[in-house]
Amino acid sequence: MLENLSQRLGRVVKTLRGEARLTEDNIADALREVRMALLEADVALPVVKDFIAAVREKAIGEEVVGSLSPGQALIGVVHRELTRLMGEAHVGLNLATQPPAIILMAGLQGAGKTTTVGKLAKLLRETQKKKVLVVSCDVYRPAAIAQLKTVAGQAGVDFFPSTVDDKPLDIARGAVDWAKRHHHEVLLVDTAGRLAIDEAMMREIAELHAALKPIETLFVVDAMLGQDAVNTARAFNEALPLTGVVLTKLDGDARGGAALSVRHVTGRPIKFAGIGEKLGGLEPFHPERMASRILGMGDVLSLIEEAQKGVDQEKAVALAKKLKSGKDFDLADFREQIVQMRKMGGVGGMLDKLPAQFAKAAGQMPAGAADKSILRIEGIINSMTPHERANPDLIKASRKRRIATGAGVQVQEVNRLLNQFEQTRKMMKQFSRGGIGKMMRSMKG
Ligand code: GDP
Repeated sequence: MLENLSQRLGRVVKTLRGEARLTEDNIADALREVRMALLEADVALPVVKDFIAAVREKAIGEEVVGSLSPGQALIGVVHRELTRLMGEAHVGLNLATQPPAIILMAGLQGAGKTTTVGKLAKLLRETQKKKVLVVSCDVYRPAAIAQLKTVAGQAGVDFFPSTVDDKPLDIARGAVDWAKRHHHEVLLVDTAGRLAIDEAMMREIAELHAALKPIETLFVVDAMLGQDAVNTARAFNEALPLTGVVLTKLDGDARGGAALSVRHVTGRPIKFAGIGEKLGGLEPFHPERMASRILGMGDVLSLIEEAQKGVDQEKAVALAKKLKSGKDFDLADFREQIVQMRKMGGVGGMLDKLPAQFAKAAGQMPAGAADKSILRIEGIINSMTPHERANPDLIKASRKRRIATGAGVQVQEVNRLLNQFEQTRKMMKQFSRGGIGKMMRSMKG
C-alpha cells in the first residue's frame, strides 16, 4: 500500500543527506514528493493540504537527534503526522450498556458487512467470551440472510432467523427481544445495502437506528474505493450518528487514500480493518501501526522512535551501530531483534515493524501461523551454540541436522531461517553503504 510514498520518501532522504537540520528550503522538494504520493494514493485534496502544512510546520527547525540523518528525521515527522491523521490511538468498541449491546452495521452492498458481522462475532466470542446473537435485516436478498446464517455457524455464534417477508423493523425488534430472553450480551444487526447511496435505504437504516438505539453504529466500507469510500462515509455520517468505521479489503491493493482520509473527513475513528475473506481477518485498527505499514520501513522507524524517545538509548545506539557496520550483525542480534519486536506489541505489531518484504511474506500465512513461525525461529536460534550464532557461516549440513533435531523442526526450516538472516544482513550492509534510499530500493526488488 502506498508504495509510491515510501519510494518517493527514499529519494527525499537521499537529497537531504549531509544537511545539518531541516529548513524551509531543503524540505520544499521533499514535501512536494510527499504531496504527489498522497494524491496518487487517492487521498482527498483538503486532507493532503492540511497534512503537508502540518508536516512543514513540525519539520522546520526539528533538531536532528543523535544518529539520525535529516532525511530520517523527516520520515519521523511524516510518520507521526500520518498517525495523527488516522486518529492517534486505537479506539475500541464500546459495549458498556445494558445487555444486549447492539451493534448496527451500515454500508453499501458488497462493502463487506455480512463478512464483517461474522468476523466481529467471532472476535467477540473468542477474545471477550461474549455470548453473541446475529440477525439480518436485509429483506431484499434472500441470499443475504442465508449468507449470514452460514457465517454465524462458522463463527460459532447464534443466528436469529428472518425471512424476506418480514419487515426490517419487526425483525430487529424480534431479535432484541430474543437476545434479552436468552441472555445474549451482544447483538450484531446486519442491514441491507444498495449499490449506491439511495434515499429509501438511508431512511430504512435511520428508522432501524431510531428503534434500536444501538450503542455502536459501524460504517463498513471497502478501502479499495479510495476517495469514493470517503464520500460515502460522509453521506452516511450525515444520515446516521456513526460511532466508527470498519475499513475492509485492506489486504488487497487499496492505495491507502481511504485509510488516510476517513477519520479527517468524518471525525469518526476507524475501529477495525478487514484483511481477508476468512473470518479471522479482522484487526483492531491502530493508527501508529498503519502509519508504519504505509511507510514500509520497519527497522528504520523503530530506530527513529527509540532515538527520539530516548528510551533504551543504549540499545538504540548499539542497533544503529550494527546497522551501520552490517558485517557484525549475527544470529544473536537477529534473535534479539525478534525478541525486541515481539515485546513491542506482539506479532501483529512486529509484522508492521519488519521491512515490507518480510511483512508481505508473513501476511500470506494464515492468521496464527505467523505467531508460530516466529516462535520457531527463536527455537531454532536457541538450539545453536553461541559460537554458531556468531559465525553463521560455520553452519553446514551436520550442524544443521543437529540444530533441527534440537529445535524439533525439519532441516529445511533451518535453511529458510539462515536465508532470511542472510537477506537481513545484506540489507543492513546496503543500509550502511547507501543509506535508506538504497536499502528501500533493494527491498522493492
Ligand atoms: P455485504 O454486501 O456488504 O454484506 O458484503 P459481503 O460481506 O457479502 O462481502 C462482499 C465480498 O467482499 C465477499 O466476496 C467477501 O468475501 C469480500 N470481503 C469482505 N471483507 C473482505 C476483506 O477484508 N478482504 C477481502 N479480500 N475480501 C473481503
